[in-house]
Amino acid sequence: MNKVYIAFGSNIGDRYEIVKKALELIEKNDMKIIKKSKIYETEPYGYLEQPPFINGAILVETELSCRDVLKKLLDIEKQLGRERIIRWGPRTIDLDIIFYNNEIYDEEDLKVPHPDMHNRDFVLKPICDINPNFIHPIFNMTVLELYTKK
Ligand code: ATP
Ligand code: MG
Ligand code: MG
Repeated sequence: MNKVYIAFGSNIGDRYEIVKKALELIEKNDMKIIKKSKIYETEPYGYLEQPPFINGAILVETELSCRDVLKKLLDIEKQLGRERIIRWGPRTIDLDIIFYNNEIYDEEDLKVPHPDMHNRDFVLKPICDINPNFIHPIFNMTVLELYTKK
């Protein structure tokens, strides 16, 4: 079984309800949720003129390849009404693969570990809730170390 850390964020509409639906769809798409972080209310990142987010993360187990996980997550985003208009702009739901086992992918449309995760408290903190000792396969540091060194 593959272990995949997925971060989620939402800042449009009924954010908690949308996250709940996203997690249900994830389970229906052959990913079993093993652990769930707390949910945090956070200020916008990158593009500041937009409503606050809720952010969190889950750990899932799945037989799906990393690419198939990406496909399913993009499909779930679409089902929940995600439109891409402004980079880092408002969205009903964002589902990002943060880690896939301890594997590294560096393709045009699939980068894992997520290349900016170590700069983002709204990703590091939820992953620390789930597993603070998980080792980032490129930096060889735990997520707790990445979170506290900032
Ligand atoms: P950021 O990636 O900086 O958090 P974002 O999540 O807002 O920005 P999106 O519009 O959700 O960016 O995604 C754009 C593209 O990123 C997707 O179509 C997908 O192919 C690609 N992508 C690359 N690596 C990943 C990953 N690890 N998880 C999710 N999408 C990824
Ligand atoms: Mg994102
Ligand atoms: Mg995304």
